[in-house]
Amino acid sequence: MRIGVASFSHETCTFCPNITTLQDWDAGGMLYGADALDTEGQGEGYITGYKEAAEEEGAELVGILVARGPRTVGMGSWLTTEAFEVISTRIVEGIKKEMPLDGVLLALHGAMAVTNVPRPEAELCRRVRKIVGKIPIMVTLDLHANEDIELLNTVDGVFILKTYPHLDGHEISKIAAKCMISTIKGDFKPVMAVRKPGVISASVYQASEYYPMKEVYARCREWEKKGIYCASVAPGFAYADVPDAGASVFVVANGDHALAESCAQDISDLIWSLREALTRPLPRAKEGVAQVKKMVIEGTKPIVIAYHDDRLGDGTHVFKELLEQGARNFCTTSIADPKVLNILDMEHQVGDIVTVTIGGWVHPISGPPVTVTGRIEWLGPADWVETGPMGRGAVRHEDLVASLDLGDNRHVVISKRLRAPMSADPLKAIGLNVDSFEIVEIKSRVHHKAYWDTWSAVDFPIDPPGTTPADLSTLKYENLPWDLYPIGKKWRK
Ligand SMILES: [Zn+2]
Repeated sequence: MRIGVASFSHETCTFCPNITTLQDWDAGGMLYGADALDTEGQGEGYITGYKEAAEEEGAELVGILVARGPRTVGMGSWLTTEAFEVISTRIVEGIKKEMPLDGVLLALHGAMAVTNVPRPEAELCRRVRKIVGKIPIMVTLDLHANEDIELLNTVDGVFILKTYPHLDGHEISKIAAKCMISTIKGDFKPVMAVRKPGVISASVYQASEYYPMKEVYARCREWEKKGIYCASVAPGFAYADVPDAGASVFVVANGDHALAESCAQDISDLIWSLREALTRPLPRAKEGVAQVKKMVIEGTKPIVIAYHDDRLGDGTHVFKELLEQGARNFCTTSIADPKVLNILDMEHQVGDIVTVTIGGWVHPISGPPVTVTGRIEWLGPADWVETGPMGRGAVRHEDLVASLDLGDNRHVVISKRLRAPMSADPLKAIGLNVDSFEIVEIKSRVHHKAYWDTWSAVDFPIDPPGTTPADLSTLKYENLPWDLYPIGKKWRK
């Protein structure tokens, strides 16, 4: 039994300024053949899940291609048509060379946006289908996938992460691969149902362990106890302006199509009923930092500020407020500024007192550059093994990162690109005394909570101007369905 494996994943922020090119993807790295299946030092993920299932069931995986992801400073915008065409062709040609295969597993994301290609994941699957004929194709997707019936029409199984923070890449892939193997053996007859509930929401509201999504995932698990093989919900990625945006429900059952349809409809109705809970106003930078300072003074600490909408990495809004409002004992964990970092590296060393102007260079929405004077406390590479729940066991390396001590136990980390510490490890790796902080500012929405909720008294999301705001009505969409709640034309006041 030979199963081809490929991965081509991107969460495209079409409101971010810089397009994502083939060169960016190639710089990030392409793994072919056996290398595509080598997961040494990466922690658990989609591919390790496929591998474990294959080992348990005695199937052979055939590595086709794993695109490791484009090398960009922050999130990339629209993929060029060329990037999609060339990488898709590499996958299709790789599969062609390995035929005959008994099945194909594709680890995709679902929120890729490509110029001239309205539904890139479905398009890729259609191209694979043309090559492989009737053998099963099954895909795993991120919980931020934007998909619809076109994907269902092309593949035999769709399996979406069940957790946000995403902790189950390995598990969902195992579920998918086991389904694939049972299908090839003839023990499983995959049937699917799909629904689009018609609701779009910002990522910051989608944590799976909190209301309202907690209710939705609990309902999925109930259906799985009632005979559904896998009930998946993707609340979706709102910052890709694509025609299949918004939440989706994908249900896989063994032969019982009516059951799959009932399940999908029930979950879709539940999501629709929770639509208002999927938005709530968040404070802007000035009032948010003021509230955090007040809580700290009153004894609620430490606090994590989730600066949720800086997807470019150069955002300064929260850092600026922390400085201006006289906060102490804080760490701003990342301002991306490769230029300043290179100057520090060439002209300075640890211990030097420097004045630098950082951030606010990618796009005006990131806020103004901020000038600070401080002592260089770290300047060089950072290496660590992730011990937090996100990517546990992964060997991490950054070739250059700096930390400045600004006095009063105030610290700012300058990085090459957007850096969101998923645990204390990336901060400890550069010598920071994490437990001395009252406030830690992290440019993340939900993933960081897997670790940082165990450290902080409060997780406090702040909504400064940014490319991916909580209030979606401030974005200029062009491709959404007219009836998508709450921002399709039908709902706009
Ligand atoms: Zn995601």
